[in-house]
Amino acid sequence: MPDIISINNTRIGLGEHKSISFNIARLPTYTQIDLPVHVYRSAIDGPVLLLTGGLHGDEINGTEIIRRMVRKGLVIPDKGTVIAIPIVNIYGFIQNERGLPDGKDINRSFPGSKNGSLAKLLAYTLMKEIIPHIDCGIDYHTGGASRANYPQVRVDFGNTETLNLAKAFSAPVILNSGLIPKSFRSACQKKRKHLLVYETGESLRLDEQGIKEGIDSTLRLMHYLGMISSKTETNSPRIFEKSTWIRSKRAGLFHSKVVLGEELNKKQLLGTVNDPYGDNETKILSTKNGMVIGLNNCPVVNKGDALIHFAFN
Ligand SMILES: [Zn+2]
Repeated sequence: MPDIISINNTRIGLGEHKSISFNIARLPTYTQIDLPVHVYRSAIDGPVLLLTGGLHGDEINGTEIIRRMVRKGLVIPDKGTVIAIPIVNIYGFIQNERGLPDGKDINRSFPGSKNGSLAKLLAYTLMKEIIPHIDCGIDYHTGGASRANYPQVRVDFGNTETLNLAKAFSAPVILNSGLIPKSFRSACQKKRKHLLVYETGESLRLDEQGIKEGIDSTLRLMHYLGMISSKTETNSPRIFEKSTWIRSKRAGLFHSKVVLGEELNKKQLLGTVNDPYGDNETKILSTKNGMVIGLNNCPVVNKGDALIHFAFN
């Protein structure tokens, strides 16, 4: 990394902290939408770590993780640089929505384009202005649509280097997850940058345990990268090669008998889907040993709806 890095025509030297605002677009009301990016550089050169929250605008836990780290000065490294973007999708954040005003999902719009939709423009801005500077990044997410996630880091086990970073990050669960086309993670991998996706809680809710785990894991990774000297206590993450969603076989009211993070045995009762008029109850049983890493919190379900995200080996 050179002594001076330049982002959006702002020069940031070693030992400097600067806040940069990208003007992304203008709303129909003439209101300008800016994307604030914070850059914290140590006086000593070293790795560059990106922290992004709110790529999906209604997923607030990542925003809160970065906010607390900024507040406590944890983003100021002893060595290297932290680039922090607490809210990537400002539009969605304002509206309590996952996507952009046109309904597009930024995480399916990479690598983006300068003249594309707002989602593509935001993706393009990240790939052009930010990603060339970084070595690795953490993209914080939550479950969507009433589905809550147990704190977990998702990584492609086929990429040994990224997997080693996930092990250093050491969230309570490390889950093998293939690359989704046009996702941020996939676009970063094509540029040989390592991006870890951390998931916890559900949209529009703050998940205290997951926020604390997210901060601790980020500090563990920073220590592993040599960016900070202080060491955060290590834990023993569960590592899973596979996961699947157990789906409802019928419409009705879903009652879960399990909680996030629960270890499951084969043939264990996971929950029931009940007829709302009191006629029938359908039991859902576990087909193998594993762990609950995601749970649908919306009781009204249709046939085929995702109920329980189940990780196993
Ligand atoms: Zn998300």
